[in-house]
Amino acid sequence: MHATLIPDELQFAINLMTGCATITRNVQQKHINAQDKADHSPVTIADYAVQAYVAQAILQKYPGDAMVGEEASSLLKQDENLLNEVTEQVKALLPESNPDFVSSWIDHGQGQPKGRYWVLDPVDGTKGFLRRMQYATALALVEDGKVILGVLGCPNLSFAGQTGVMAYAYHGQGAWWQTYNSQTEAQPMRVSEIKDLSQFRILRSFEDSHTDSTRIDSFTRQAGVTVDPVRMDSQAKSFLLAGGQAELSMRLLAPERADYREFIWDQAPGYRVVLEAGGTITDTDGKQLDFSTGRRLINNRGIFATNGWIHEEALSVLQQS
Ligand code: AMP
Ligand code: MG
Repeated sequence: MHATLIPDELQFAINLMTGCATITRNVQQKHINAQDKADHSPVTIADYAVQAYVAQAILQKYPGDAMVGEEASSLLKQDENLLNEVTEQVKALLPESNPDFVSSWIDHGQGQPKGRYWVLDPVDGTKGFLRRMQYATALALVEDGKVILGVLGCPNLSFAGQTGVMAYAYHGQGAWWQTYNSQTEAQPMRVSEIKDLSQFRILRSFEDSHTDSTRIDSFTRQAGVTVDPVRMDSQAKSFLLAGGQAELSMRLLAPERADYREFIWDQAPGYRVVLEAGGTITDTDGKQLDFSTGRRLINNRGIFATNGWIHEEALSVLQQS
């Protein structure tokens, strides 16, 4: 895919990432500090504002498309100060904003996951956002259960000597990364060539409650991996796997939440990026991910993503761990 041949929908999604990062960075600057007496979580403000911004753009450019986002405006409308703060953030990008517009844009993201729909995680890795570590704005386009494209905006991620990078991929066309400021041209992404399990660099959730740390430890022992897995929030993990900086990203069910099923917005964008970079993704039973089951992947348990060379071998080690 030559740059001039980027499909309209992908170019649209890429273009949105800059505005999303403006919002998340502004909110971080203004609200994450000890003096912030307002009782509003910075995550809440950023989540709502990014969803409003993206939804407004989708409504304008693709009015026939549905949108499935994490947020709804019902609680926001009950908190005038919060709604005003969110509106302030959106206004910096869309001067015509007002609280009513913002609420209705947010609720456009409460669409049905049917036919053709956009999937948004406005701030994926909220804990990382609060720690000023890794988070991502993650956007995908799904059509009849097939993930057409995925974009990951990672304002804090360093890759190939640049900080603040985004990855994007289109079904069957490949995956690319670029900086936010576009000073560098987009570069293709490719998974690593490492095929020796003992050399695998493993990515896992920062939060223990999102995974099964004991089983990850047991896996690394069985696999003979000597370096500790890297803890990281959000789909920034998928970026690093796709970019050849890690060989495995796994998400195991937390023992206390064995019934947990993934939300599509936590998986669809990173899924497309990893696959187009040459990686393989299944669940922890080795099943293909099924994006046709609504807001959650109800047919899949956990996620197992690798650089693809020895996916089944690695998975069988997990299944014995
Ligand atoms: P990560 O940063 O990779 O740990 O993933 C962050 C995402 O995990 C959030 O967007 C949540 O939707 C999701 N999440 C929340 N609770 C759980 C849980 N118990 N198990 C797995 N994922 C969870
Ligand atoms: Mg998320």
